Amino acid sequence: MILPKANRLAPAEVDELTAIVAEFGCRIQPIVGDVRTIYAIVGDERHELMISRLEGLPFVDRVDTIQSPHKLMDIRSELARHRVRVGRVTLGDELLVMAGPCTIDPKNPQYFYETAAALKEAGADALRGGVWKPRTNPYAFQGDTKSLEILMEGARRTGLPVDTEVMDEEQLRLALDAGVQVLQIGARNALNYSLLRQVGRAIAGRDTVVLLKRGMHLGTLNEFISAAEYIVNFGNPNVILCPRGTQPGLDGYRNHPDESITPLLRERTWAPVVVDPSHSVGKAAYVPDCALAAVAYGCDGLCIEAHVSPSHGLGDDPKQAVTPAVLAGLIKEARALHALRRSHRPSTPRS
Ligand code: PEP
Ligand code: MN
Repeated sequence: MILPKANRLAPAEVDELTAIVAEFGCRIQPIVGDVRTIYAIVGDERHELMISRLEGLPFVDRVDTIQSPHKLMDIRSELARHRVRVGRVTLGDELLVMAGPCTIDPKNPQYFYETAAALKEAGADALRGGVWKPRTNPYAFQGDTKSLEILMEGARRTGLPVDTEVMDEEQLRLALDAGVQVLQIGARNALNYSLLRQVGRAIAGRDTVVLLKRGMHLGTLNEFISAAEYIVNFGNPNVILCPRGTQPGLDGYRNHPDESITPLLRERTWAPVVVDPSHSVGKAAYVPDCALAAVAYGCDGLCIEAHVSPSHGLGDDPKQAVTPAVLAGLIKEARALHALRRSHRPSTPRS
């Protein structure tokens, strides 16, 4: 819909609009009002270049598009019937709980094994564990490829699927070859379109799942959903959206918790939402409340940093990992809240 600056356009201006949209297979339909005339674009209006050229005209105020920019991730897409599975959990049917340390310690693998066993006992459905870590400080521990073996040994011992972050093509290849079921794209790479494309291409034809974090900055929901479109575009629709808090941070929390975006995502996309309360709030003591708030907002799952002995952990663990005992209590509360929510709102999709 083209909204002109003046109440109506001169015939030569309408001709100019018509010529531009015709190049993209569209036509102009004026909608004549008593005071103002606006100009509908009839046809596929998702051509970004067409919109930019129209918006660049001196007599155009703005162009509003009604078609979604993300064809596959859109709630009205054919893919809306698709269900993403992680291990034995079908997202949307049951609450998925993924948990594990921020960072696997390659020198002390027993922490990961003990954590994995305790989290399974606590009721977790999947394990997370950082093999390679994106660190702000270039001198901080960056992770170690040796930890990939430890991650997979944890998977073997518990029978649970595992998630780890990949940041480049080499890590992607190693993780897939090792049998990692869930690839995490972190907040720092959430808009790294060439990585998103590589991941989409690499998982096509496999049943691998991608956990796509939301970017760290306060970006739009369309930007978040469009990042997922880059991945599913190659044919594997197993993508999960993961709000994890955005900057600027609140005075007290590490980031601005954004679990409240779940209902908004639901209106636009079919993709399941798994909230990461750990990076949202950044301190173990605040994690349970944030996790329960996320469930109250209708998320499909939680991804929580947990460690048997947080003070012996690396990366974020000393500050934000919860213990398996805390997680066990939280899982009970979260599942009860999830069930309560479903019984009160049976018609809400996937919540
Ligand atoms: C993590 O999961 O440990 C991590 C680094 O997350 P994010 O990309 O959300 O910061
Ligand atoms: Mn972390």
